[in-house]
Amino acid sequence: MRIGFGVDVHRLEENKPLYIGGIEIPSSKGAVGHSDADVLIHAICDALLGAANLGDIGFHFSDQDPKYKGIDSKILLRNVMVLLKDKSYKIGNIDATVVLESPKLNPHIPKMKGVLAEILEIEIDDISIKATTHESVDSFGHQEAIKSYCVCLISRSA
Ligand code: MG
Repeated sequence: MRIGFGVDVHRLEENKPLYIGGIEIPSSKGAVGHSDADVLIHAICDALLGAANLGDIGFHFSDQDPKYKGIDSKILLRNVMVLLKDKSYKIGNIDATVVLESPKLNPHIPKMKGVLAEILEIEIDDISIKATTHESVDSFGHQEAIKSYCVCLISRSA
């Protein structure tokens, strides 16, 4: 087994869409980024790439590259899965936390798990997604930014 860790941050702005875990979340503020700024998927990508020692998301999908402008991060995650499979890795489990003051994510987590488990080729029981606030403290608590952490285990599939 190999462990991986990923973290990602995006700024929040008014009147932008908010994508987390592959779905759009109704919110007055959305995340800003070169892609669709899905902070959870980006943290998962980095955890998986880290576990396989394959570099990071910026190395594979540069934010300077126009072909990734506005891209659905689910496509990036599918590409990461191809890289993992090329090295004969499969995922054991994922555990992630999203730090966001508002809105509450809990009602949306079952749908996120379904979307991500399908891409990651794991059971729903093998993906944990948690949400926490930042207790109104600093930029995350003031709804200026969103953050996600992820750890994962992978192993050789053969
Ligand atoms: Mg990102």
